Amino acid sequence: MRVAILGGGQLARMLAIAAHRIGIEPWVVDPSPEAPAAPVAHHVLGDLDDPRSWEAIAHCDVATAEIDHAPGAALSWLADRMPVRPGLRAFSVAGDRLAEKRLFGELGIDTAPWARAGSVEDLRSALRRIGLPAVLKLRREGYDGRGQRVIRSAEEAPAAWQSLGGRPAIVEGLVDFDREVSMLAARGADGEVRFWSPVENHHEGGILRRSRPLAPEESGSCEPAARRFVSSILDSLDYVGVIAVEFFELGGRLVANELACRVHNSGHWTEEGAETSQFENHLRAITGRPLGSTRLLGPTAMVNLVGVEASPENWHAVSGARLHWYGKRPAPGRKVGHVTLRAATSEDLDMTLADAAVRSLPMQRSEPLSRIS
Ligand code: AMP
Repeated sequence: MRVAILGGGQLARMLAIAAHRIGIEPWVVDPSPEAPAAPVAHHVLGDLDDPRSWEAIAHCDVATAEIDHAPGAALSWLADRMPVRPGLRAFSVAGDRLAEKRLFGELGIDTAPWARAGSVEDLRSALRRIGLPAVLKLRREGYDGRGQRVIRSAEEAPAAWQSLGGRPAIVEGLVDFDREVSMLAARGADGEVRFWSPVENHHEGGILRRSRPLAPEESGSCEPAARRFVSSILDSLDYVGVIAVEFFELGGRLVANELACRVHNSGHWTEEGAETSQFENHLRAITGRPLGSTRLLGPTAMVNLVGVEASPENWHAVSGARLHWYGKRPAPGRKVGHVTLRAATSEDLDMTLADAAVRSLPMQRSEPLSRIS
């Protein structure tokens, strides 16, 4: 069986490694000869919106993507020839913050107050309704804090609008959350849904730094609500594959932030910390195989390695640490790898995490969201 993956970044690399292990042949399309997935997959070197790239994967059995904003033309061309999963509607929603917010609203899932901003005048009037502080976010292609500006006073609106290039955006109220939680689930081709444990996430400068799956006694009331919300999204999109939905938790209530129609950074711990990883279950789902158990194996955490100072050598001596290096050229704010930490007890894990924080200190230099464009 051959799986085509649009995009050849680290998510495609980890999908490809899982694919080989379970007898699936991975094909990736990426315009960079240095794509992280290139050494572990058949690499079609080409643009995602170039029909020659599509022809080169036309012999695959199923197509998926490691990015939310895969070109619509590529997806529909492929959909005439093979199943495209998680599904065309899922891609069109996850690739556009406006569509995402509308879906949450239709399904009765709370969000921060938001409004569409198609011009600086829209933005000004939206800010009057929503209040301040607020975040201006590009509708498309923003990630890792890119394409976002915090607005703290009405006077900042024109500069914020300009700094994002005057492109279609949404603006939303800044949420004073207690914590950030994501929920990952896999839905099989037969409609079966399996959830991993909810994950607590820490971001700095809009970039995910640490994730930790929550044991039932740590997740409180958020788990049943998150499961309900994610189930309704999966069903409404007739979804096949892995989804990640990010929430803000405040006062025991969940407010949805965004969804990713693919494997997600906050699920990387599943490789070592769950019976079946997000990568394997995504592949199982999209190829019509039964899903594997998502059971949490014990205390686990994931630390992202970000930026130019990140070094693989720091981690080899840490007991319980497993390093995943992506083979990318380090650059400021760029994720170049991650480490999964396992421990016998949560107390031991806290100690390992404290040590991890020291080891990754140079990369944990925090920048306020407002300074990241
Ligand atoms: P996003 O790209 O929307 O996932 O944003 C990245 C990170 O920026 C989030 O995980 C939060 O830490 C922060 N952030 C984004 N939107 C908001 C918001 N409306 N209120 C508070 N923090 C936010």
